[in-house]
Amino acid sequence: MSKVNPDDRVPFVNLDHPVVQSLLEKEKKKNTQEDRGLPPGWTLDAVMEEVKECMFGMANTGICYACGDLQEGCEPDAQRYECNSCGERRVYGTEHIFITSA
Ligand SMILES: [Zn+2]
Repeated sequence: MSKVNPDDRVPFVNLDHPVVQSLLEKEKKKNTQEDRGLPPGWTLDAVMEEVKECMFGMANTGICYACGDLQEGCEPDAQRYECNSCGERRVYGTEHIFITSA
């Protein structure tokens, strides 16, 4: 399985071709399946507490949307980091989660 990067599209591809259209359609769907809202087991208040820790403390955390695990070493705007407990690439920075859920 190779990922299609929209920026890598070759210029001579006929965009009206049905195969290309179905690929684009798939890509669009993938992009709208972005993780949003709150990770499992988290409230907005709890996420906000983490954001505060990251802003005013020494913490640098992200939360996994698959299992709700708190991960260290995430930038505030981290996206799709690999989770240390479940292995899914669904760890997002707490600040990013807060902004998209608030
Ligand atoms: Zn996880």
